Amino acid sequence: MDVRADFGKTKEKIMQTRRCRLCDEPLHHTFVDLGMSPPCESFLTADAIDSMESYYPLHAFVCEACFLVQLPEHVSPENIFEEYAYFSSYSDSWVAHAKSYCDAVIPRFSLGSQSFVVELASNDGYLLQHMLADGIPILGIEPAINVAQVAIDKGIPTITQFFGTVLAGEMVSNGDQADLIIGNNVLAQVPDLNDFVAGMTLLLKEHGVITLEFPHVAKLIAESQYDTIYHEHFSYFSLLTIEKMAARHGLKVFDVDQLPTHGGSLRVYLAHERNPLAREARVDLLLEQEKAAGLDALETYTAFGIAARRSKKDLLSFLIGLKTAGKSICAYGAPGKGNTLLNYCAIGTDFIDFAVDRNPYKHGRFTPGMHIPIRPVEELARARPDYVLILPWNLKTEIVAQMKVIGDWGGKFIVPIPHVAEIDPKELAS
Ligand SMILES: [Zn+2]
Repeated sequence: MDVRADFGKTKEKIMQTRRCRLCDEPLHHTFVDLGMSPPCESFLTADAIDSMESYYPLHAFVCEACFLVQLPEHVSPENIFEEYAYFSSYSDSWVAHAKSYCDAVIPRFSLGSQSFVVELASNDGYLLQHMLADGIPILGIEPAINVAQVAIDKGIPTITQFFGTVLAGEMVSNGDQADLIIGNNVLAQVPDLNDFVAGMTLLLKEHGVITLEFPHVAKLIAESQYDTIYHEHFSYFSLLTIEKMAARHGLKVFDVDQLPTHGGSLRVYLAHERNPLAREARVDLLLEQEKAAGLDALETYTAFGIAARRSKKDLLSFLIGLKTAGKSICAYGAPGKGNTLLNYCAIGTDFIDFAVDRNPYKHGRFTPGMHIPIRPVEELARARPDYVLILPWNLKTEIVAQMKVIGDWGGKFIVPIPHVAEIDPKELAS
């Protein structure tokens, strides 16, 4: 291999990635700089914790032209997603969310045995299984082979490739176009955003509909959710930015739902611009709310770094207080976002004895960077910690209900975001 040629390519790539991935304007403004961090899904096996680990900048920028908040691509999706540790079906509330989505869209868009539904990043089939049960022809597209295999075993046809214009073109030339394209928490994880959206436009039938769900950057800002920023999550959207993205590709936004998932998400409904579908009043209402929240002003975004630093100081002060008082702390859940929080705040085994997670893939592994051991959930009852830090705070209601048992030995929960808060399970109505 010609090393110089390779270096030249890398340098060229860095120059290119400092431009907005949506509108190609140069990126001059910092949204938040969370320092250096390892890729948040790279959980380590025991024999790897004494080896060197890769760290990449976690420095998010905002585009002054389209207000897309974004991370430059340091880690390629091929490295991140081919063996992925995230199985959607491990979250009961997420599976229920997918079911209620299916119950709503099947009648609304008259989906049936003549339709064709494609889900991008279909994961382990947590959503398409509900369409399958209704006899609707489906196809999942999921590049993580280990996760896709679980869907295939459930009888869900799944292509293990990355989606974009190349794959969409192949599908269209085979006569496959979609009545409904679903993209839940995938848009943010696509480095070549325009190629991905152009692919959806190609694949979409004349009267087809696209629904996309993604965390709402308005919530991220309002609730200091800096931990939802990680390398695999390249883009952070407002509806204002989504409208610009849709218009670039001959699409229009005709409806939007505000959802409680992932700390506050949007579900946008897109169609071809020429589709006569009327625009729901909810769309303009939310656009007005976003403007009122300052999402069309650069200063709103550039002020975010201060909020993240304050949140870090508050959490550390709280944890130092507990440790000084001799309390033991464990963590519940080892999600990707947890690793941004742990690394940014430098919370390791000096604070947290171990983390527990429902995903057996993570058991016996260690969190990237901070090397906190991950064990099965049952280990909490054995260790009886004084405090349990909930890292997937977006699921706190579900977790507190599932883990009420910690109240039996006087244990309490800590929720780190939006403000450090203590929850005593004994004080909750049963
Ligand atoms: Zn832009």
